[in-house]
Amino acid sequence: MKIHEYQAVELFRHAGLPVCDGQVAQDANQALKIAESIGFPVVLKAQVLVGGRGKAGGVKLVHSASELPQVFNQIKNLTIKGYAVERILVAKVVNIKKEYYAAVTIDNIKGDIVIIASNEGGVDIEETAKQHPEKILKYYLEGAKTIDPARWGEFIRSLFPDQKYHQEATAIFEKLLKFFISFDCSLAEINPLVIDDNGKLIAADAKVLFDDNALYRHEQLQSMRDFKYDDQDEVDAKTMGLSFVKLEGNVGCIVNGAGLAMGTMDAIKLLGGQPANFLDVGGSSNPEKVLNALKLILKNKGIKVILINIFGGITRCDDIANGILTAKKQIELPVPLVVRLTGTNEDLAKEILSKAGVTTYKSMREAVTKAVSLAK
Ligand code: GDP
Ligand code: MN
Repeated sequence: MKIHEYQAVELFRHAGLPVCDGQVAQDANQALKIAESIGFPVVLKAQVLVGGRGKAGGVKLVHSASELPQVFNQIKNLTIKGYAVERILVAKVVNIKKEYYAAVTIDNIKGDIVIIASNEGGVDIEETAKQHPEKILKYYLEGAKTIDPARWGEFIRSLFPDQKYHQEATAIFEKLLKFFISFDCSLAEINPLVIDDNGKLIAADAKVLFDDNALYRHEQLQSMRDFKYDDQDEVDAKTMGLSFVKLEGNVGCIVNGAGLAMGTMDAIKLLGGQPANFLDVGGSSNPEKVLNALKLILKNKGIKVILINIFGGITRCDDIANGILTAKKQIELPVPLVVRLTGTNEDLAKEILSKAGVTTYKSMREAVTKAVSLAK
């Protein structure tokens, strides 16, 4: 789950991180009141859950009350990467001397938490990471949950050649790391972390991603969700009892069980194809679930084939077969189906399907190979 900057700033403040004073506004009058209470100049920042607001004109400094309404409305009328600006953060301006990048995230390949930093932070960080990867510093936790002073020295010295920042910066990284762990984040990022004209370190932006699977442990976060940014198909899938994640490929998948669904996606990739989605129809699959799953997958116009891979345990293969028949009657299937069924009531299922002219496969490899070749 993503949250807005103004929400992340509040959480960072509670975590003891140095953030700027500010509040979110929905209209220019409200913004003016906030700005007057903070004192000019202020910075207005579009609250959209996509990156690159600065470059899109969504971050602007305002020096006086007279110019505020116009700048506010200018930002309010922006559409940033397809999203309308509904709220704008009005924050105290920092006089930036230098911008750094600071983040904690998970390196999925290493299976470790990593602190990432750069002394070339700001809106061009992606470019820097591409052109000058050596300017991106990484400190791996190596399984620990706190910073190891023995290894930390080198990291902080390369980030801040000037020793006077070491203590303050280290405290910020420690707090960011503690925040990351205690809220089950997948990312806690400050870009830019700045040195202001008083030589103080301040978080001038805040970005946080939470692991959805751990949200049940954090009641205070659940109400922060901005549903406008959720994928509507994924939301619909949930209400129909399906676990669904959209991907980039063209082989639609309907599978029972999360493990088999993962295995199926792996097999598709191994045999040269690209899965279009993860979809687990769950344990006890009634025919209606299969129909819903097919409808959902077919919303994706890039699909070339649908692979149905069922290992019948609690799931009865004949239920799946009846679901396929119902779907064939009710909706138009513009792409071929490749069906592999094995387990409970397999023979019955095959009989139902062969009468309807649907070929079935017994082995997963055969079915996946067929699906991948049809997708090419
Ligand atoms: P992003 O582009 O979506 O990451 O938005 P940021 O909140 O990071 O703002 C983009 C850029 O605007 C920053 O890198 C800063 O250069 C600038 N900026 C943001 N807040 C302030 C501020 O308070 N004072 C000054 N001088 N610049 C700011
Ligand atoms: Mn930023």
